[in-house]
Amino acid sequence: MFRSIRWRLVASFVGLTLLTVAVVGVVGLSLVRQLTVQREVAFLQANASAIASQAEALLRRGYDLSRLQDLAHTAAFLSDTRVRILDSSRRVLVDTGPRTEVEELVWVDPVTQAWLQQAQATGQAPGTVILTLPTNRPWVKLWPEVERFLAENLPAGTEYIVVQRVVGAGGSRVEFRTGRVPNQVAQPTPEPAAGALAAASPRSTQVIVAPIGDPAQPWGFVELSGGLDTSRQAVDTARRAFTLAGLGATLLALAIGLLVSRSLAAPLDSLAATASRMGAGDLSARAPVTTQDEIGQVATQFNRMAERLETSFAELAAERDALRRFVADASHELRTPITALRSFVELLQGPAADDAEARAEFLAESAAQINRLEWITQNLLNLSRLDAGLVSLDLAVHDAGEIVADTAAAFKARAAEKDIALAVETPDRPLLVRCDRPRLELALTNLLDNALKFTPSGGAVTAGAKATPAGVALWVSDTGPGVDPEDLPRIFERFYRGRNNGAPGSGLGLSIVHSIVQAHHGRVTVDNRPGEGCTFTIEIPR
Ligand code: ADP
Repeated sequence: MFRSIRWRLVASFVGLTLLTVAVVGVVGLSLVRQLTVQREVAFLQANASAIASQAEALLRRGYDLSRLQDLAHTAAFLSDTRVRILDSSRRVLVDTGPRTEVEELVWVDPVTQAWLQQAQATGQAPGTVILTLPTNRPWVKLWPEVERFLAENLPAGTEYIVVQRVVGAGGSRVEFRTGRVPNQVAQPTPEPAAGALAAASPRSTQVIVAPIGDPAQPWGFVELSGGLDTSRQAVDTARRAFTLAGLGATLLALAIGLLVSRSLAAPLDSLAATASRMGAGDLSARAPVTTQDEIGQVATQFNRMAERLETSFAELAAERDALRRFVADASHELRTPITALRSFVELLQGPAADDAEARAEFLAESAAQINRLEWITQNLLNLSRLDAGLVSLDLAVHDAGEIVADTAAAFKARAAEKDIALAVETPDRPLLVRCDRPRLELALTNLLDNALKFTPSGGAVTAGAKATPAGVALWVSDTGPGVDPEDLPRIFERFYRGRNNGAPGSGLGLSIVHSIVQAHHGRVTVDNRPGEGCTFTIEIPR
């Protein structure tokens, strides 16, 4: 499952959130702990100094242990700590002892305690007692415990007033609660679970000592300890808050991670689906481009690649078909003279062996077929060499007009024989072109050969050269039938011959022209006028 980007993304979102919450939590908690410990110590120190100065005032008036005890107990109750008063050699004079469970609930001063004991002994209700609750207890919560305590510890019918100083954000106020211990004490309620109250009010381990009198020569010391562990409470509260916040943040990260990963993974999924369709052979498959981001760009590039791949495959298929056709055509062209030669040889070996005239005729025919075979193989070899770029042209600067005139001169006799007007149109001044002259002459020869072959008697063939913006053009124009428009797209292919022509030929002439012109980085075009003739133009760049 975690191999998929989707889940890895979600996991990293959640992991990052947890890590952040953990780091912030650890730092936050240690700050909270540090701050609350500082405050706790400051609180204890302030109290210890205050008690020490009161103790000093008492001691100035003379040593009275009971006064010191009263001071210690009152201070212990009000500050909710254990108070010890030590003499200068650190012997304990007064020790209020650790805070008891009862003291945590309600404090009964010694006078009231004596009064209550007397009332309990005589069995009479002592009237109204006033009781005080420790200052910083959330006593409203503990009220049922307080009531139970009062019912168990005060004689039935005792009326009580409970006083509590409630410290709020805007200051402190005094609250009173009045009540009466019922006559019939109901079934004693079960004891609270052991340690419940202690657990509710953990005690600090801080111990603060303040000197009484001159710190250099103190009369004794006030030692405060066992106050409420406010720092632990604060840290616990902060930890709970962090845990809740962490849980919330994790859930949020999970939801956001799922949303983001889904939006990222969907286009990737469709890209993968397209790739596998292409892999299965469907080259027309394209990925949907739904976004402009990096994934969108990948999809666009992927589609471009697919486009090129499809085009290349189509081109390869077309080339393969052309090659097959070429092989078939070539073997057909070669087979024709070979078949003729075989039948001549058979005739010469058999029936014509003794006929001198027939023998001479067959030998002449055989020589013609061998010439044809040689011509075809030579041209094929030339063509494939030219096309494969194996032939390096012998380039030199020549006068294009002279090339045209010289090539056309070789056709004069044939034109006269066929009663065709052969003309040459070249500019007066030399038209220089950089070319392989024998090869360019071969191309012109092929064009003139076709022109004379296809033009009927009485027609005209014109060859010429002229300057063009890009270089030089050499052209051959005739007044023959022109190229059949259906043949036009294929006349430059090897072995392609026009369908309606009874003229002899191999279909290699124009493909040789095309290859030679291409080797010169030029082009050959045809201006076809069906029924009126055509003009083939070779353009050679400067
Ligand atoms: P071939 O002439 O041996 O048939 P080419 O490659 O020279 O082969 O020419 C291919 C085809 O182009 C010809 O068969 C003919 O149909 C057409 N063609 C070429 N030149 C001309 C022309 N001057 N007039 C009409 N058709 C032509």
